[in-house]
Amino acid sequence: MEYRLLCKQFPDLGCSHRTLNFGDKHFDFFPRIGLKLTGVCRLKCPFCCEPNRRQTVYDISNFLEITETLRKLGTELLCFTGGDPLSYPNIEKLLMHTKKLGFYNLLLTGDGALLKEKLNKIIPYLDAVRFSIHDMKMEHDKIVKRPGAFSEMNEALDILIKTNVDCFVTTVVTSLNTNSILDIAKWCFNKKVKKYFLFGLMRSGKGGDFINKFGEAPDEDIYELLAKLKQKYSHQQLEIIHYDYKRNAECILVYGDGQIVIDPYPNPPSFQLEIGNILSDTRENIIERFNKDPENLSGHYEHLKRYYKV
Ligand code: SF4
Repeated sequence: MEYRLLCKQFPDLGCSHRTLNFGDKHFDFFPRIGLKLTGVCRLKCPFCCEPNRRQTVYDISNFLEITETLRKLGTELLCFTGGDPLSYPNIEKLLMHTKKLGFYNLLLTGDGALLKEKLNKIIPYLDAVRFSIHDMKMEHDKIVKRPGAFSEMNEALDILIKTNVDCFVTTVVTSLNTNSILDIAKWCFNKKVKKYFLFGLMRSGKGGDFINKFGEAPDEDIYELLAKLKQKYSHQQLEIIHYDYKRNAECILVYGDGQIVIDPYPNPPSFQLEIGNILSDTRENIIERFNKDPENLSGHYEHLKRYYKV
């Protein structure tokens, strides 16, 4: 019944409750997954979406098994995230392993200094790096509470661009930084960044408290900014992408114990929903739990369709 309703709303959406069908693309499992390697990060973003920064850091053997399973299930792209994934002790070995398995490796980081330290060892295994930049120069440093963070990132990005690794930038748009977005986009363009993402605040982690304290940037302001950015850069080499994180299940995340969660989910306190465990559940059970709430499939579809352009 739920699926019939969904199919009416989204004619492209598949009716099987055991698979994910987007347009002419059919998936047995989630094509893009975020790996939560660690809660450790040297930055202190006031809206950090990770609910548990002191989470257990699992042995690499867990992640080797998790990624092998994901590859067999058909996942194509891994976002290495945390905390800061570069803080994970075996990040080099893990990236090498997933590259050999044939994944697209996308590393998410805000720590340019750590990236520079590890760069020589990891460059061969990176497809792209997405930096978090929330304002320009010292204003960014103030947000993440690390003096020099912006220039460290700037230096790491220069090295990556020279070595032909694709670089993307994300800004979490808040009520405090909307005036800086055009400047950040211009900086991205000058730096030859390929994609500039504007993200809405997530409620998981510190996001909910941040929203309660400062509110969110008004939708009209964000859409006005997006229109300006798209007009200015549509014929240039900078793609502008907006995810407001207001729909269910835009992100599918796997922790080191195999737990798989969706984020966002509307229920407090975590604003995430556990849908199973990669190391102990069957694919069918995980997809079935995911599909129990039809908003999950429609939210994830909306998120992915911008990527797959269906
Ligand atoms: S860089 Fe990421 S993990 Fe680190 S504090 Fe900021 S949002 Fe959290």
